[in-house]
Amino acid sequence: MSHARIETVVVDGLALANQLRDEIAARVARHTSVGRRPPCLAVVLVGDDPASASYIKGKRRACARVGIHSVERRLTAHAGERAVLDAVAALDRDASIDGILVQLPLPKDVRPNAVAEAISPEKDVDGLHPMNAGRLLLGEPGLRPCTPLGIMEILARERVALKGAHAVVIGRSAIVGKPVSLLLQQAHATVTMCHSRSRDLAALCRMADVIVAAVGVPRLVKGDWVKPGAAVIDVGVTEQDDVLVGDVDTESVLGRARLVTPHRRGVGPMTITMLLRNTLAAYEAHPPA
Ligand code: NAP
Repeated sequence: MSHARIETVVVDGLALANQLRDEIAARVARHTSVGRRPPCLAVVLVGDDPASASYIKGKRRACARVGIHSVERRLTAHAGERAVLDAVAALDRDASIDGILVQLPLPKDVRPNAVAEAISPEKDVDGLHPMNAGRLLLGEPGLRPCTPLGIMEILARERVALKGAHAVVIGRSAIVGKPVSLLLQQAHATVTMCHSRSRDLAALCRMADVIVAAVGVPRLVKGDWVKPGAAVIDVGVTEQDDVLVGDVDTESVLGRARLVTPHRRGVGPMTITMLLRNTLAAYEAHPPA
């Protein structure tokens, strides 16, 4: 069925992120202006994966720009789980550190769940501790994973109505798919969670007012999967022939969707911004004297 061409908004996630970072910087400055130490984030990098090292660098730079202090702890790829857990425990005991982030992926012999549990829920700025995951499930306050928070912030700032809307989330990871599904449901959307075994993904997507694609399959979501006027959030980032590509075939979505986030300058900058916000929230929950 043909439809009138819609002027699709390509969300500028970086501009949105910068706006929010200004607000965070102002809040940090209010604390330091009365003599309190600034918030502090500890980042842990295990191994020498260049992509992880670059993510860590970006996160630390973002911290510095809003006045959040950061420290880095590096371990070799062969350090082993015990050493990683000990390093995390030491940071956890340190009262001058408000938030701890362990960069994923971890080497195969280090269990991500064991690492997540070694961080106190109060310092768990990635929102992956079972206590925070449970609080999210129960609708209780707690630290939430950063990418889902960033997605919700984009939808709110772009005034996408969620009450009664049908949201289709593709992907069911603990870091994106599951938590964003819960947040959308808490915002009163009707949520369909899809994954690699879902039948007829295209048909499910065509029913959606909001599509969140967190898969890691390049250009999976095509224009003709998108109901005219739907909002499309592209979380995926995959390297293909040395180029980064998203989960959405953006070109074919233009003119159909009401808005789409690009795979660059879309959700990514908002994820980092939510890390800053979580670190500030962790600090404010237990402010230094
Ligand atoms: P993940 O843990 O690998 O999960 C991928 C999910 O996609 C799984 O639930 C999987 O289903 C599902 N899936 C795989 N192939 C599928 C298919 N053909 N059809 C439908 N579902 C399929 O990945 P993740 O950590 O959630 O990340 C997803 C993507 O987002 C990645 O590209 C990642 O790089 C990107 N990402 C971006 C940001 C950002 O800030 N921009 C942050 C986090 C992640 P099963 O459960 O059945 O295996």
